[in-house]
Amino acid sequence: MKFVSTRGGAPAVGFVEALLGGLAPDGGLYSPDVWPLFTPGDIAEFAGKPYAEVAAHILGAFANHDISRQDLLGACQGAYASFDHPAVTPLRQLAPGAHLLELFHGPSLAFKDVAMQLLARLYEHVLKASGRTLTVVCATSGDTGGAAVEAFAGRANIRIVVLFPEGRISEVQRRFMTTADQSNVRALAVAGDFDDCQAILKALFRDGAFASEVSLTAVNSINFVRIAAQSVYYFVAAVALGAPQRSVSFAVPTGNFGDAFAGWAARRMGLPIERILAATNSNDILARALATGAYGRGALVPTISPAMDIQVASNFERLFFEASDRDGSQTRRAFEDFEQSGAMRLPEQVLSHMRALLAGVSVGEPETVAAMAGAWRAGLGAMDPHTAVALAGAGKAPAGGSAPLVVLSTAHPAKFPEAVAAAIGVRAEPPPVVTRLAGLTERFDHLPADPAAVKAYVRAFVAQ
Ligand SMILES: *Cc1c(COP(=O)(O)O)cnc(C)c1O
Repeated sequence: MKFVSTRGGAPAVGFVEALLGGLAPDGGLYSPDVWPLFTPGDIAEFAGKPYAEVAAHILGAFANHDISRQDLLGACQGAYASFDHPAVTPLRQLAPGAHLLELFHGPSLAFKDVAMQLLARLYEHVLKASGRTLTVVCATSGDTGGAAVEAFAGRANIRIVVLFPEGRISEVQRRFMTTADQSNVRALAVAGDFDDCQAILKALFRDGAFASEVSLTAVNSINFVRIAAQSVYYFVAAVALGAPQRSVSFAVPTGNFGDAFAGWAARRMGLPIERILAATNSNDILARALATGAYGRGALVPTISPAMDIQVASNFERLFFEASDRDGSQTRRAFEDFEQSGAMRLPEQVLSHMRALLAGVSVGEPETVAAMAGAWRAGLGAMDPHTAVALAGAGKAPAGGSAPLVVLSTAHPAKFPEAVAAAIGVRAEPPPVVTRLAGLTERFDHLPADPAAVKAYVRAFVAQ
C-alpha cells in the first residue's frame, strides 16, 4: 500500500513516511491509494478478540510489512495496556437501541489517547531503527496536547513541544501538559487562541529550512495513522452490537473531523455503518456544509466544549477527496480556492456522495447543558460537554433507520469539572489521576503569538 496526497500533486509514499511526514509537499493530506477491504467473514472474526489484536489486524492492512506484524502487535498491546478498562473502549447501554462508547479510559482521559498512545510507540520504533531524532510540535485546543505529552514523554529519539492557548483550556487539561518532568517535553502558553497556535505551527512547517534544521514533525489529525487507529473502535463497537449481520449508526462530536472521518474510513473498509451523525457545537461550519452545501468559515466562538472550537476542519479535505471519487485536481482547486476566499460551494455530486452516509447537526450551548442535565436526571451519570453535544445532536437529528445508535463519548467528565458542575449541580468525582496531577508542580513557558519567538524557543530546546 502507498499513500497519495488528496491534492494529487505529490509522489506516493510508504507507511513510515506517511506516519512521520505530516502534510504532503503539495499541501494535501495523505490517504491510502487503495482502501483495505474486510469481508463479513473477517469482521465476524473480530468478535471476542482483545482490542489490541483487532487494532494490529486493521493497522497491519495499512502498514504492509513496513513494520512487522509482530512489532505492530507489540505496539498495540503496549498502547492499550495503558487504558484503565480491559475492554479499552467499553460500550454502555443508555436505552434500548442506544449506547455510549466510552473512549476516555486512556491516560489523559480523552479519546485522543486511543491514537496517540499507538502513534508514540510507532514513532519510537521506526526512529530507533533509523537512529533519527524528531521534534514534534503540537498545537492543541486542549486535549491533543495532554494526550501527546502522556504518550511521548520519556520516549527515545523524540522531543515534544506543545503550544496551548493561554487561559482558554481547563486547569485539568493544562496540568496534563505542564506536570511531566521528562526532559524531552516542553509546554508553551501562547498569548492567543487555538487558531493562533495552529497558524504558528503552519508557519513553522512553511519555513522549510527551519523544519529540516530541527527535524520537525506533527501529530495532529492530519496524520493518517491517527485516523486508521481511530477506525478500530468503530469496528469493535459495531461487532459487539451484531455487525457484520447488523448495521450500526454513530453520533460523533466533531471538531477537526478526524474522529468522524475515521467512521467514514471504517465504512469504506467494509463495516456496515448505516449513518454517521457529525454533531458540532456552535462552531458549525461542518454541519452547515452538509446541510446546505456552503462550506464557509465563520468567526470562532468559545464554548463549553472547547476541543471542538474549530472553524476549519482539516480532515474535511479527506472527505471531499473521497466524495469526489478521489479526484486530486478537483480537491486541489476546491481547497486552494477555499484557502484564498474562506468559502466554497460543494459540487452537487460531492455533496450527495457525502450525504449518503453523513448528516450534520449543530448544537447550541443551552442544548448541550440540557443534554448533560437530562442524562444526569435519567440516572445515566455525568457526561462531559463534548459527549453531550453528540447526545443532544442524536436527539435533534431526523429519525431514520432501525440500526442501533452508538454515541461516542470523547472525554471523561472530570476533565471539564466546571462545565459539568454548572450543568448538573454536582462536581464529577475526580479519578485518581486528576487528584495526583493537582499535587504536581507545573512547568511551562509563556510566549507571544509570534512564529519567530516560537522558532527561537524550539531551536534553543533542540540545541540542549
Ligand atoms: C478532539 C476532541 C473532539 C473532536 O474530535 P475531532 O477528531 O477533532 O473531530 C471531541 N471531543 C473531545 C473531548 C476532543 O478532545
